[in-house]
Order: sequence, then C-alpha cells, then structure tokens
Amino acid sequence: MTKPRTAMTCRQTILHLLDYAEGRLEARKRKALEAHLVMCLRCVEFLDSYRRTPAIVRRATNATLPPTIARRLRRALRRRKS
Ligand SMILES: [Zn+2]
Repeated sequence: MTKPRTAMTCRQTILHLLDYAEGRLEARKRKALEAHLVMCLRCVEFLDSYRRTPAIVRRATNATLPPTIARRLRRALRRRKS
C-alpha cells in the first residue's frame, strides 16, 4: 500500500482517539493522528462527538472518566474496526 508514513489510517486513528482526546498520546503518534485528521473529516467528526460527551460527564461529576467506562469505550472502538 502507498500510504504516507507519517499519517495514520482511519482504523488507527479511531483506536488512538481515546488517548488523544485525553492528552495521553505520545508526541509521535499524536502527530501522525493529527496528520490524518487534517485529511479526514469523518475522523474529525468522530473525535468531536467523542470529546463532547465525556466533557459533559466530567463537568457533571467533576471527576475523570471511570476506568470501567474508558475500557468499555475502548473495546467498542476496537470492535468498530473489525
Ligand atoms: Zn479517518
């Protein structure tokens, strides 16, 4: 395949979106993910909708996303790709 080495695919982007939205993604992956977001409106919208929901939850509970929910969300995102 002839994909640019710096940018991620949609699948990779969705896999890393949770970490990215929470600022836990390492710099190199973050750059690759952002390189993809520049080209892909679908992933931008996905990130946007993801970001909005937990923000509301966080504001309401004044806490971080419970690990169980984060894990469940992660699993749901992984299932999306297959
Ligand atoms: Zn994409």
